Parts: sequence; C-alpha cells; structure tokens
Amino acid sequence: MCIGESLATAAIAAEIASENPGFVFSTAGVHPHDAATFDAARDIPRLRLASKSTVAIGECGLDYHYDNSPRDAQLGAFAAQIALAGEMSRPLVVHTRDAEDDTGAMIREAKSAGVIGVLHCYTGSHSLADLAIGVAHTLTKVASARGDDPNELGQTTARNAERLFGLAFEAA
Ligand SMILES: [Zn+2]
Repeated sequence: MCIGESLATAAIAAEIASENPGFVFSTAGVHPHDAATFDAARDIPRLRLASKSTVAIGECGLDYHYDNSPRDAQLGAFAAQIALAGEMSRPLVVHTRDAEDDTGAMIREAKSAGVIGVLHCYTGSHSLADLAIGVAHTLTKVASARGDDPNELGQTTARNAERLFGLAFEAA
C-alpha cells in the first residue's frame, strides 16, 4: 500500500501503483500535519478525482503530539475526508497520535455511517485499540452463532477485505 498523504504524494503513489499493477496499491489523503492549508472546497474535489484510482482515503486523521496544524483545522480536514470515504465507498487509512478521545469519537461516528478503515502507526491506548479491533469480537460472536470455526470465518472475512479494498493480487 503506497500512501498518499497529500495531493502531490497521492499523484506519485498512483503512478507507482499504475507501474506495478496487482502488486502496489495507492491511497489519497491529506495528513493532519497539513490540515492548516487544507481547504475542503478546493481539496475535496481533487481528492475525489484522485481517489478514483486508489483503494483508500488517507492517510488522514489527528496528530495532537506535534500539533503542526491547529486542532480545529485537523478535525475539519478529517471530517471532510471521512465524508468523502463514505461517498466514495473507500476505507480510511487513519493517522492518530495523542488524539485518542477525538479520534475515537470520529471513528465511532464514521463506523456508524458505514465507513471502515485501518489505524496505522498506532501509539494509543488499549481501550482505543479495543474499539478499533472490535471486528475481532464480532467475528468470534458471529462464528459462535453460526457454528463456524473462527479461523475459517476469519479467512473468509480476510478475503472479503481484499475485495473491499479491491486488492486484485496477481498470482506470483
Ligand atoms: Zn501517519
């Protein structure tokens, strides 16, 4: 997964992916460090266009460790990209650092709107991790209710994730 964390790097990531079909996949997003210069009216249409050739929106999220951008700008940029992920039916690649409460609230909201994703470069607490990996608990419960083996069901859901991201791996 080649991460585009700005419009410029998303274009490069898309180029690398197109040069390596079935092996490299790309994303398009605006990093929280750059949220101060993010302009939803200008940048969401650009991300929408870029995301047509990507498998996910991001990375995006919240970084209160460095606070390179004002927090309200980070929240606004993240919310706009969550909405885009919903609109484009793309999962999110989420960056979060020292921003647990706000990240938790926003991914809960995203999840309830049907938007899913991954937390990368995770530095948060066990409780936020629990929220993020709640799918595992769901898997155990669903496997139990269906009388399925959790490992086999896990493999099935992994294949579903491949389909979700549109990862058409080429046979080696
Ligand atoms: Zn990151």
